[in-house]
Amino acid sequence: MSDYYEVLGLSRSATQDEIKKAYRKNALKYHPDRNPGDKQAEKSFKEISEAYEILSDEKKRQIYDQYGADALRGAGMGGPSDHAGFSSMEEALRTFMGAFGGGGQPGGGDSIFDSFFGFDPEGAEDEGRQGASKKMNLSISFEEAMKGVEKEAALNNYATCSKCDGSGAANSSSIKKCTRCRGSGQIHQSRGFFSMTSVCPQCYGKGKTVTDPCSDCHGDGRVKKKQHIKIKVPAGVDTGMRLRMSGYGDAGEGGGPNGDLYVFISVEPHSVFQREGDDISVELPLSFSEAALGCKKELPTPHGGSCRISIPEGTQSGKTLRVKGEGAPNVHGRSKGDMMVKVIVETPVSLSEKQKDLLRQFGELEKEQNSPRKRSFFDKLKVFFSN
Ligand SMILES: [Zn+2]
Ligand SMILES: [Zn+2]
Repeated sequence: MSDYYEVLGLSRSATQDEIKKAYRKNALKYHPDRNPGDKQAEKSFKEISEAYEILSDEKKRQIYDQYGADALRGAGMGGPSDHAGFSSMEEALRTFMGAFGGGGQPGGGDSIFDSFFGFDPEGAEDEGRQGASKKMNLSISFEEAMKGVEKEAALNNYATCSKCDGSGAANSSSIKKCTRCRGSGQIHQSRGFFSMTSVCPQCYGKGKTVTDPCSDCHGDGRVKKKQHIKIKVPAGVDTGMRLRMSGYGDAGEGGGPNGDLYVFISVEPHSVFQREGDDISVELPLSFSEAALGCKKELPTPHGGSCRISIPEGTQSGKTLRVKGEGAPNVHGRSKGDMMVKVIVETPVSLSEKQKDLLRQFGELEKEQNSPRKRSFFDKLKVFFSN
């Protein structure tokens, strides 16, 4: 038996932290699951486990430092029982589980089994693994968002290999049942007190191995393929909405389902119409006389139609009129939002002499009937004028 410190590559002054790190590194290297049938690795694994068992316990370490390994044997200290090191792999594995097993819960906590055995808590139960989901951005015009549109897009996905139909094999006779897991895709290990199930490291859960791989996909069962797809964008979509296209992601592995495609929508702003939820707002410029006398106006609607609205006599600038059901279609239903028409009254400019003349006459008459708003405004400010 060689020196415990040498076995782990440590100096005699190593801290507990260093001891644990060194053990972990070596245990992963020599673990029997990584080295099936390798007698030398098995021996090394037993040796480092024995060294760790002693050095990780300060009491045992002290005895070892002072009197050597023999002092620990048969002294009721729970040390190794003979000079050949650990009597069984069972004991070495128990040390390993004790150090890193995380209480026998594979895949939980800081257990190293996640990465070591490739344990996949979701995929382990399923037949095969689901393909990756993809994401793409799609920009459409305001009109397209109002009416709905069909867009073409190119995808570069993993698709099921057509030559081998996804099996990864050149022919059906080269598909063999996995010898390690006997076709179940899982291996059950019992280690001391623990029993655990993990994905078979030889076939990665497929349950079979391929002796003669397909020449197109090299055994993967999938190939990168450029695909042209049609995206049906429903009427009423808005910026920030996401369409899920089921099955348009990467093809699954080993018979697993395809991933999905997520299309993130952005709608280009319109120069006149503005969207607020399902309502569409628009500013309608009116002349002074139209607002004062009232009028009827024909307005285009956001989804391509038109509507007639009545501007009542004496409409003020900034007033908003609601036109029911002429807004954006609701993407989830058949209802539509409203169109909100905000009136902007323009002060007349570039007047002819005749227009000016009429306005002067109008102004004279206006003096006689001061508007209520104007009167209250000056009433409130009277105190400033009196000073
Ligand atoms: Zn193939
Ligand atoms: Zn297997």
